[in-house]
Amino acid sequence: MNRIPVLSALTIAGSDSGGGAGVQADLKTFAAHRVHGLSAFAALTAQNTRGVSAVHVPDTGFLRAQIDACFDDFEIGAVKLGMLATAEVIEAVADALEHYRPAHIVLDPVMVATSGARLLEPSALDALRTRLLPLASVITPNLPEAELLLGRAIVDREAMHGALDGLFALGARAVLLKGGHLPDRGDVADVVDLFAIPGEVREIAHPRLQLDAHGTGCTLASAVAANLCLGRTLADSCVAAADYVHDALRLGYRPGRSEVLVLDHF
Ligand code: PLP
Repeated sequence: MNRIPVLSALTIAGSDSGGGAGVQADLKTFAAHRVHGLSAFAALTAQNTRGVSAVHVPDTGFLRAQIDACFDDFEIGAVKLGMLATAEVIEAVADALEHYRPAHIVLDPVMVATSGARLLEPSALDALRTRLLPLASVITPNLPEAELLLGRAIVDREAMHGALDGLFALGARAVLLKGGHLPDRGDVADVVDLFAIPGEVREIAHPRLQLDAHGTGCTLASAVAANLCLGRTLADSCVAAADYVHDALRLGYRPGRSEVLVLDHF
């Protein structure tokens, strides 16, 4: 008989019909780590490699039923949160997490897709800050998301370090701040992400890949959750997840008609 994973990872996130981001990327990432994947759909997008054409948000009673079904039956090692769309959804997810208290919560504060599509109502930002940020074991913002959470610009590496303190002041317990959106100055070959807990910062560097890719944020956060299910520490899980995304990006492919690349989950 095949080895059966003991702990499952649950993603509460949005569906990407194009299979590159969202719940689809999360489940592929869990499977690639040999972790059993569970999913609760918080939003559905009609989407391909060229963009998002429609969004549907199921009612929160149905979302809660999906979450309850997962917690009723599985040993959940970590929960990954992705696209939550509205303040009402965020409130429902926060209520469920406060009820079940999973060991680890990885919060990807999804706001706007690379294509420009809004994945979170602007009015929901406050609920994300006050209800979910303090519940998360780690948050994984990119720079535009951190800027919206903090209400100020992050223009260079020094400002990234300053942003960590701002995120801790908002109640974050640990932060994986993604540096990929810093302007490419040409002379800086690496993308540097910062993993931080209060009083301790670790730089995670990878060579910059000049690729137009889709689903990197979802994959990173779900790889952190998968590694936590495998028993790794939070710091090791974040480093392993960043390595995984770099390799998945290097091996990426183009399934659609646009130039946008989808990660290869190996
Ligand atoms: N679609 C869904 C459902 C997502 O959750 C996300 C990101 O988290 C995206 C699209 C955007 O992915 P990207 O910005 O990598 O294209």
